[in-house]
Amino acid sequence: MTPHPQLSRRDFLAASALLILTPKLPAAESGTAAAEPIIDIHQHTNYSGRTDEQFIAHQRAMGVSKTILLPAGSPVERPSTHLGKSNGLAAQCGGNQSVMELARQYPKEFVFGANEVSDLPTARTEIEKYLKLGAVIIAEQKFSLDCDSEFIEIVAGLAQDYGVPVLMHFQHDTYNMGIERFHKILKKFPKVNFIGHAQTWWGNIDRNHDQKVLYPVTPVTAGGITDRLLSDYPNMYGDLSAGSGLNSMLRDEEHARGFLGRHQNQLLFGSDCNDRIGRGPGCQGAQILAAVRRLAPYPKALRKILYDNAARLLKMTGKAPPPPPPSAQ
Ligand SMILES: [Zn+2]
Ligand SMILES: [Zn+2]
Repeated sequence: MTPHPQLSRRDFLAASALLILTPKLPAAESGTAAAEPIIDIHQHTNYSGRTDEQFIAHQRAMGVSKTILLPAGSPVERPSTHLGKSNGLAAQCGGNQSVMELARQYPKEFVFGANEVSDLPTARTEIEKYLKLGAVIIAEQKFSLDCDSEFIEIVAGLAQDYGVPVLMHFQHDTYNMGIERFHKILKKFPKVNFIGHAQTWWGNIDRNHDQKVLYPVTPVTAGGITDRLLSDYPNMYGDLSAGSGLNSMLRDEEHARGFLGRHQNQLLFGSDCNDRIGRGPGCQGAQILAAVRRLAPYPKALRKILYDNAARLLKMTGKAPPPPPPSAQ
């Protein structure tokens, strides 16, 4: 390749450097697994009835190197599970034993979390049992309880003892209610890292958010509860997974560029995707990856969001794992 005659040598060098810095085509668009390492911090076994084989192929097709499996709590009928309607994280997801078994079968590709319906009297022993067996996170906390209840304090205490983060599904009037008070927990447990997820977490990037709207489409005025929690508390993280994470970027891309830039040390890629193929356009995880790749302000920020932040948070030491094997069809 020779420099264009009208370009100075300096222009040419600058252009070449830009070429080198430009991120690769998103896997969703190129149809191939990306070479960069990716941690997906949010997945489930038996998600909406998906088989392990379909799930493994899905993660490989997305180009994910390591996946964190988040279990449901025990199936019980009580107010905190909406009398059983929210069992299996309201999506037939597998529990502690299910995620541990898959992670043990494929230790290079999966690690697992520990969970329990947090207002059960046995919650502490059940969660601790799986932390001792190697769980790296307490999640997914998705129960009909206040987000600053005595039960989340039990969970946070365990997280502190075992040095693992807690992932919470915030959904107005439904799960982890009272996000406007969550700063109290962040203040009370400064050594515990909390990861915010779902509709009410992402809706509240907007200072003018209407709490009743789960998927707002209006332009964002920065400075909402979520924006402030991330700015004010280094132990607060954001999980970009699910329709809510994707919507938070697509509803106002200009805002998203700034948001990904200013919180680049505290944002994590997750898919929470129940698709069975693992490629666009139907696959939500592939769409989230494409959006993060398009909107991250520069390659280093992208790398933090796709890999570095999760590796640090989950204490995955050592070198980045190699890219996943090609999809098993
Ligand atoms: Zn969720
Ligand atoms: Zn989930």
